[in-house]
Amino acid sequence: MQKSSGSNNQDVKQKNRMLVLKLITVNKGISRVDIAKMTGLSKMTVGNIVTELIEQGIVTEKALPNSPLIQNSTGNYGRKPIMLTLSPDSPCICGMLIKRELCQIVLGDLSGFIFEQITYEYSTLQDGDALIEMLIRGFHILMARTERSVLAISIASLGPLNSSDGIILNPPYFYGIENFPITSVIQKLTGLPTFLVNDANAGALAEKLYGIGKDIPNFTYLHIMNGIGTGLVLKDSLYNGDTGQSGEIGHTSINFAGPQCACGNKGCLDLYANVDNMRQKIRELSPFYPDSPLVSVSHPTWCDIVDCANKKDNLAIIAIEEFCSYVSYALINTLNLLNIATLIVGYDSSLDGFIIEDIIKNKLSRTLLSANYDKITVIHSRFNGDAPLIGSIAFIADKVFSHNLPLSR
Ligand SMILES: [Zn+2]
Repeated sequence: MQKSSGSNNQDVKQKNRMLVLKLITVNKGISRVDIAKMTGLSKMTVGNIVTELIEQGIVTEKALPNSPLIQNSTGNYGRKPIMLTLSPDSPCICGMLIKRELCQIVLGDLSGFIFEQITYEYSTLQDGDALIEMLIRGFHILMARTERSVLAISIASLGPLNSSDGIILNPPYFYGIENFPITSVIQKLTGLPTFLVNDANAGALAEKLYGIGKDIPNFTYLHIMNGIGTGLVLKDSLYNGDTGQSGEIGHTSINFAGPQCACGNKGCLDLYANVDNMRQKIRELSPFYPDSPLVSVSHPTWCDIVDCANKKDNLAIIAIEEFCSYVSYALINTLNLLNIATLIVGYDSSLDGFIIEDIIKNKLSRTLLSANYDKITVIHSRFNGDAPLIGSIAFIADKVFSHNLPLSR
């Protein structure tokens, strides 16, 4: 039987409190009056909640120095507007990002602002314990740098994962680390509530909470990093799926007769859309494009290729075109299935330029079934390639705002 749950007065009070905190946090400077207007709560209720949050050291207030004085109903000028922001002493979050070639450990606040960061690079890992050793070492270094309390730890990792059970399943080419219960190990060693989230899902949440997706109810976040992943935001919430494995577009097949993938499927997107294949294409075509800067680079990186393409280098554009064709085949399946009209794309690049977005939009617009196909929007991420890192913070902030994790420990 489907469960239903009611709300008592305490729940409603807590829900309102977190709603007010969320508005203060994501708007970075908002007045009590604005909060009352945006929430429909009475000025008195907002005032009481804000007073409580200030007393607890979570929120702080200040008059804006350069703003004009407020004119009241009698035409007189009174105080300058008082703006509310997150306190610099408010509880913070520890985020961890695991990539194939490095891990990052950060401390950030509920607004997604990262104030401490440490990175460890590796070219191999002996086992899961070697990874844990680095994460815990980084955690203790950062804890020694802050006096703020830490609410929880969130690990954004390459997949596939079972986020619900906190297990790294079997990421391809991840040094043989498989079925590793990372969440329980980190939780035991730190004593902090610990969560695991797919890197692309974390990126989607960063865009939803702090980025371009703030006011977009449905969108797909496409992340190009360790392979290709997507995060689905549906009706303003991240769609996790039954075990937190949603969005694994890199392991959807674009060729049923294709090569075997490590995941067990055949012809997966990741086997076609990857930097090795782009390098191969560049090598094959180099004799025809002797003036391309890529010809003299022995092992071009993703950033090398994207940057050259953004500078209109034809050889780079051909490699990117092919990459985007593969990605678009898989994306069309997702977007047709869900009828989503907005795609946010996150990846590393050193130059401004939107060649990836332009090519993908062009390919999708020619193929999508949706009646809104001509309105498909493809936007570059607010955070470039860092959305999953900021998303590791957003994952915990979202739990706090949605009343699923207490604000104090
Ligand atoms: Zn696969």
